[in-house]
Amino acid sequence: MTAVPSPIPPRGPATPPTPDAAPLLSVRGLTKTFPVRQGLLDRWRGQPRAAVQALTDVQLDVRRGETLGIVGESGCGKSTLARTLVRLMPADRGSVTYAGTDVLALQGPALRRYHRQVQMIFQDPYSSLNPRMTVGQVLREALTVHRLRPPHEIPARVTELLNLVGLPPEAAGRLPHEFSGGQRQRVGIARALALEPECLIADELVSALDVSVQAQVVNLLLELQTRLQLTVLFVAHDLRLVQHLSHRVAVMYLGRVVEIADTETLFSAPSHPYTQGLLAAAPGLDPTRRRAQPAIVGELPSPLRVPSGCAFRTRCPHAFARCETERPELRARTDGQQVACHLDTPPLPEETRTARP
Ligand code: SF4
Repeated sequence: MTAVPSPIPPRGPATPPTPDAAPLLSVRGLTKTFPVRQGLLDRWRGQPRAAVQALTDVQLDVRRGETLGIVGESGCGKSTLARTLVRLMPADRGSVTYAGTDVLALQGPALRRYHRQVQMIFQDPYSSLNPRMTVGQVLREALTVHRLRPPHEIPARVTELLNLVGLPPEAAGRLPHEFSGGQRQRVGIARALALEPECLIADELVSALDVSVQAQVVNLLLELQTRLQLTVLFVAHDLRLVQHLSHRVAVMYLGRVVEIADTETLFSAPSHPYTQGLLAAAPGLDPTRRRAQPAIVGELPSPLRVPSGCAFRTRCPHAFARCETERPELRARTDGQQVACHLDTPPLPEETRTARP
């Protein structure tokens, strides 16, 4: 079975929401650690229990109607952030506010309503689809449980949802294993859309797909975001896809947000040394731009032993003494860009920026 070609041609992101648009989703000070299992010997010695620092004081806003890309190396905390936002895992501290509501305090019907409004799409939709249910049954179940359509309108809505994601009506009668990877992602998107969400959180949506199929699925998401006025959080490690899809981009390093900027600014004039290094190493980006940025040196530190001060200081070509002792806060510039780097803040009295710790 082949996907029905989309009636809307691929294009860049629609006009981004105005910078002062009220955020739909606000994250402040979000922190999450995963305690590590302790061996008997360590317990006997009274060693303190180690913990993986997955998120540290994450702060960002997602504006209504925008696509915010979240990028960073593997293990930087982007998937943990996505899962914490939809309450798949609890946060240690911090706040998440959705349209003024405290998400981390939601219970019962209010939490169910939030889960309908904010839908997550996973890298492997196969694992979340019942292999014995046809796609039509999956979509009908979503519509029935949430009472989104009267029974007599459900078959037409199922066809409409399949059409929305570029699948033919006969796909309703097939089982998940009868679809290719790209088609299964379309099914996953259709199931998310069945609940009429305001916000989609796509976690590595296409990273398991072939490059040619990736483009189709990403263009579908782009088209749906514009047509349905969705707010999208697009979590990915592929910078080309993030650049193609996002209005703004947040860059994460070792569980912290180090830079947020609109896509054009971030890719043409990155401010944080980590963002500069990430762009320098990215395959497929403009090679002249890549040469202009210094590449990142050294290994990613273990999240069990995050460096003091600025987490990036052990790999940063500009590190100086203050970077070792003081964590740079994410600060907004007048142009709306946010950067967490001491180079971006006034020097302390008598401070020199030439000495590497
Ligand atoms: Fe580099 Fe220091 Fe800026 Fe961190 S705070 S990115 S170590 S200059």
